[in-house]
Amino acid sequence: MPSEPKDAYTIDDLRDWENATGDLDPPARLAVFGDPVIHSRSPQMHNPALAEGGKNCQYVRLHIGTEDLREALNLLKEKNFIGTNVTIPHKGEVFAAVDDMTEVARLTHSVNTVLVDDGQLIGHNTDAPGLEQAIREEFSVDLTDLRVMVLGAGGGAGRAACIQAAMDRSERLVLVNRTFEKANALKKEIEPMYAKSERLLGPVDRLAVIPHEVKYLERELKHIDLIINATSLGMKVSDPVLIPAHLLQPHHLIFDMVYAPPQTRLMRDAVKAGARAANGLNMLLWQGAHSYEFWFNEEAPVEAMRKGLKESFNNAK
Ligand code: NAP
Repeated sequence: MPSEPKDAYTIDDLRDWENATGDLDPPARLAVFGDPVIHSRSPQMHNPALAEGGKNCQYVRLHIGTEDLREALNLLKEKNFIGTNVTIPHKGEVFAAVDDMTEVARLTHSVNTVLVDDGQLIGHNTDAPGLEQAIREEFSVDLTDLRVMVLGAGGGAGRAACIQAAMDRSERLVLVNRTFEKANALKKEIEPMYAKSERLLGPVDRLAVIPHEVKYLERELKHIDLIINATSLGMKVSDPVLIPAHLLQPHHLIFDMVYAPPQTRLMRDAVKAGARAANGLNMLLWQGAHSYEFWFNEEAPVEAMRKGLKESFNNAK
C-alpha cells in the first residue's frame, strides 16, 4: 500500500530520494523549499490541482537550509523533478542560482518558482502576477486603473508589488518604506518604466517615494485608491499600527498580503472607515495557479486549488 508523504523531507532525503519517497504513489516530483517550511499550505493547494489535472505526480515540502540550497537545486535535475516553489528565505538566492529566468523574475530580483527544462533551471516570480490577479478578483478593477501605495516597498514582496504596478503602468505609484533608501533605490529603477508611459501627469507626482511616517502618509493618502500592505507587520496584535485609522477613507481599497489572521488590524480599521479590504489568501492562490501554469504550460484548475486551500484552513481550526 502506498504510504503518506512526510510533513517535510530533508536534504538527506533528497539525496536518497528513491529510498525516501519510493513508496509514494503518485511519485513526488514537485516541492516547496523553505526554512521553515512546515507551515506551507502549498501541498494542500497543489495536490488537488495535480489530481484534477490528471498529473501523475505529487507535491511535498522540503526543509532546506541556506547552506544546502545550491545542492538541492542541482538534485532537482538528477531526481527527475518537474520543478519547485521556493519560499522564505530563499527567493533571492535562487534568483542568483538559476540558468535562465522570465522577465518578471529579472525585474523583481526574486524567484519563487523553478521549472526543470531539459537540464536547465528556469526561474519565475509568480507573486507579482498573483497579486495582480488577486486584486482584480477582490475589487473587480485592474491595477492599471488604480492609484497605488505600497507599504514595505523595500522588502521582497513589496518590490514584486511595485514592479507589477509599474509593468501595468498603474495610474499612480507611491513607494513607502521604513528604510527610505531602499525604496528610493527601487523608485530609480522603476522610473524608466514610467517614462515610457503616455498618460498625462496629474497634480501630484505619478511616481513617488516617502518614508513610512504619518506626516507623509497623510499627504499622499488623499491621492491613493489602493493601499497594499507588503510589510512583515499584521500577523500579531502587538504589531505597530501601519496607518493611523483616521487617515483611512471610504474610497480606499486595502489589500493586506497577510492572510493569518484573516482580518488584520489594518483591514479592521479600513472597514470601520467604510473602505473595502481583502487579505492575502487570493494572492497565495493565484501565485500557485501561475506556478502550475509555468510547470505544465496549461491553465491551472484554480477551483480545485481554492477548495484545497480553504479546507487546509478549516482543518487547522
Ligand atoms: P521582507 O523582505 O522581510 O520585507 C519586510 C518589509 O517590512 C520591509 O519593507 C521592511 O522595511 C518592512 N518592515 C518590517 N518591520 C517594519 C516596521 N516595524 N515598520 C514598518 N515597516 C516594517 O518580507 P517579504 O518576504 O517581502 O514579506 C512581507 C509580507 O508579505 C509577509 O507578511 C509575507 O508573509 C507576505 N507575503 C504574502 C504573500 C501571499 O501570497 N499572500 C506572498 C509573499 C509575501 P525595511 O526595509 O525598513 O526593513
